[in-house]
Amino acid sequence: MIYLRKCVICGNETSSEDNFAKYILNLEKEKILVCKACDLRWLYPFMSDDEYKNFYSQGYFDELYSGETFDKRLSAISDEFYFKRRIRNIIKIKQRRKASILDVGCGYGLFIRCAKDLGLNPVGIDISEYVISKVRAKYDDLNVVACSFFDFHTETKFDVIHMNHVFEHFTDPVRALSKIKSLLNQGGLLVMEIPNQFKNIYDILRYIIKVPVQSKFFSLQHPFFWSEKSIKKFLSDNGFEILKVKVYDRKDFWIRKPGDFDGFIFRVVKLPVALLAYILGRGANIEIFAELK
Ligand SMILES: [Zn+2]
Repeated sequence: MIYLRKCVICGNETSSEDNFAKYILNLEKEKILVCKACDLRWLYPFMSDDEYKNFYSQGYFDELYSGETFDKRLSAISDEFYFKRRIRNIIKIKQRRKASILDVGCGYGLFIRCAKDLGLNPVGIDISEYVISKVRAKYDDLNVVACSFFDFHTETKFDVIHMNHVFEHFTDPVRALSKIKSLLNQGGLLVMEIPNQFKNIYDILRYIIKVPVQSKFFSLQHPFFWSEKSIKKFLSDNGFEILKVKVYDRKDFWIRKPGDFDGFIFRVVKLPVALLAYILGRGANIEIFAELK
């Protein structure tokens, strides 16, 4: 276990605890620490990389990916819509179509499939050999590698690095960001989506109606919890210029049902709530485009 006291952005020792976040995640032993200056939160303590490896091997990917349900099919359609929109934004910013792009944590390869179809030159890496073998079996024209991000080495650098719900899983974000920089061309683009945890309307409602999350995987999988403020500060302090940040809720708001809610009630309630999230800017995701200076 890692007992981190120092904020990885500003280096200040902090002892502030966030009890709202602790309640949402239904934590007993662990706490959530927060650096009030940077608005960065982290689990205290969180697992080491070896411990996480063991944690993920215990059914995490099964819980996430297994089975072909109606929800999952709709969710894949929605992912494709948002990925293609993101890729068009990347092409607009880079002003060229053949840009090289590394997708870290490519999973079943949907993002790199879309990137390739829209004219980019993608490489996908994922720590799971299982998902990489699935990508290879499904598409023979995609370039994918099974390895951890830190073990990935290449001769040529990339124009773009993309991470979809990956950055919050790194136990050492400082090391992860310097690895990102080492793989990017000068003027290269970093594009990420991260969860807007504890600031989104769903977490606020969970607190109000007293329904904390029930899944151990959901509560313990993220060592760090980034917000719009903390990610902007972290990237700008480390040589990036922030081009665009968007806090948003996906339009599949009626699709994704957390496992611990009644499906029907959840879908009826989620529609107006999602509208409220949109109006208040309290969506569940943060999308960020940043350029390496
Ligand atoms: Zn700080």
